[in-house]
Amino acid sequence: LHDRLKDPSLLRDRCYIDGAWVGTPEFAVNNPATGAELIKIPQMNAADATKAVEAAERAFPAWAKLTAKQRSNILRKWFDLIIANREDLALILTSEQGKPLAEALGEVDIGAAYVEFFAEEARRVYGETIPTQRPDARLLAIRQPIGVCGAITPWNFPNSMITRKVSPALAAGCMVVLKPANETPLSALALAALAEKAGVPKGVFNIITGDAPPIGKVLCEHPAVRFVGFTGSTEVGKILYRQAAVGVKKLGLELGGNAPFVVFDDADIDAAIEGALVSKYRNMGQTCVCANRLYAQDKIYDQFVQKLSKKVAEMKIGDGTEAGVVQGPLINMEAIEKVERHIADAVKGGAKVVTGGKRSPLGGSFFEPTVLSDVKPDALVAREETFGPLAPVIRFKDEADVIAMCNASPFGLASYFYSRDIGRVWRVAEALESGMVGVNSGLITTEVAPFGGVKESGLGREGSRHGMEEYVEIKYVMMAGV
Ligand code: ADP
Repeated sequence: LHDRLKDPSLLRDRCYIDGAWVGTPEFAVNNPATGAELIKIPQMNAADATKAVEAAERAFPAWAKLTAKQRSNILRKWFDLIIANREDLALILTSEQGKPLAEALGEVDIGAAYVEFFAEEARRVYGETIPTQRPDARLLAIRQPIGVCGAITPWNFPNSMITRKVSPALAAGCMVVLKPANETPLSALALAALAEKAGVPKGVFNIITGDAPPIGKVLCEHPAVRFVGFTGSTEVGKILYRQAAVGVKKLGLELGGNAPFVVFDDADIDAAIEGALVSKYRNMGQTCVCANRLYAQDKIYDQFVQKLSKKVAEMKIGDGTEAGVVQGPLINMEAIEKVERHIADAVKGGAKVVTGGKRSPLGGSFFEPTVLSDVKPDALVAREETFGPLAPVIRFKDEADVIAMCNASPFGLASYFYSRDIGRVWRVAEALESGMVGVNSGLITTEVAPFGGVKESGLGREGSRHGMEEYVEIKYVMMAGV
């Protein structure tokens, strides 16, 4: 990997704490497409996490005192450097994570777009004056940076999940201690190298890699940390929620989903197929907003299944750096086993494998993109997040039935549906219990819109102007004696 980068200095094997690259490389990061070791990184612990938090705390006064424009300029420079190095960043991403290079470039671009957007928002953290209730006083509310923030991120978007948290935090005047996923720390470290180059002062952005539970505990419990932002599984999210309760810390949680993808019989079927392909198979189905269960209405069911399967069967599988590949490896063998469990359970219940359904002849963690038909609404795959390239298609009769099936889940992150009936579009969009709804679109993530879930899918929103709110506190000031 080192030799294929234009700027090999982006490949780091140390953590970044208080403006210094520290630690002993000992923990291997592997390429999921080949199994080959890419590099070793440090295995840090609770004491290191405490050091990072304390460095962040020391950086606070100077960083928060900069003008919004000064912070904005630094973020803008970080954005420019990310764009200038987008090909290297994409290659690092594909090497550690597996997604096709074209998708990695897309992720680097949206990752950069968060930085650009929050560089702009840095200058719009407005307060307000409030009409007073007493003649001798004036009331106002100001927004101030919350302080040191912990961030814990997953392996499925190793670049954009970092910038989506770090850039609003820095824009607001906060500092971050980040623990990236152990599978994919290299994108995070490369971003830190560029942040350093952009002039982010020491202690403002720190990265530690290593043992997640003890590091997570420090980030949740250290008195100096005021906010913890997490993207990952619901299971770990609940652990962090409990830990954060001890010190009453503010929390942002972006957890699992179980997105329904509904095709009504009045839909543009070809558009729905395109939407289903991107929503289901992007990143080999390893995104929290992935279509997890597909519902097609009676009249168009057979046509939808047949056309979708034809496209899926044509997808090229392979190493994400090879030309034309649209399906890389899954992150590891456990991911493969979960997909297999979901297929076996559905088939036991009467489902048919229309295409795929088994491991790829390429071996390793490659799996054939799969479509199942005649899946029962209560199959395991309709209840649990698969996180793999498996599209189970369920038949439904009418609008009320399908809304009930969509909402019969403890999760509520994203939902998608295809319809050309304006009344239905409104009714269904309002009725779905999810934080985000894609109508006639399978791809909804953008830096300008609020991303987040309801129910057990999480707390808070990232991206958009709402994404800044997580990182500021409102302070009310009464000025009396006027
Ligand atoms: P995934 O299933 O996507 O790997 P996880 O929730 O296990 O999701 O991981 C997301 C992030 O949370 C990773 O950075 C991982 O290292 C971290 N993590 C896992 N367990 C804990 C924990 N007990 N405390 C804090 N962070 C954790």
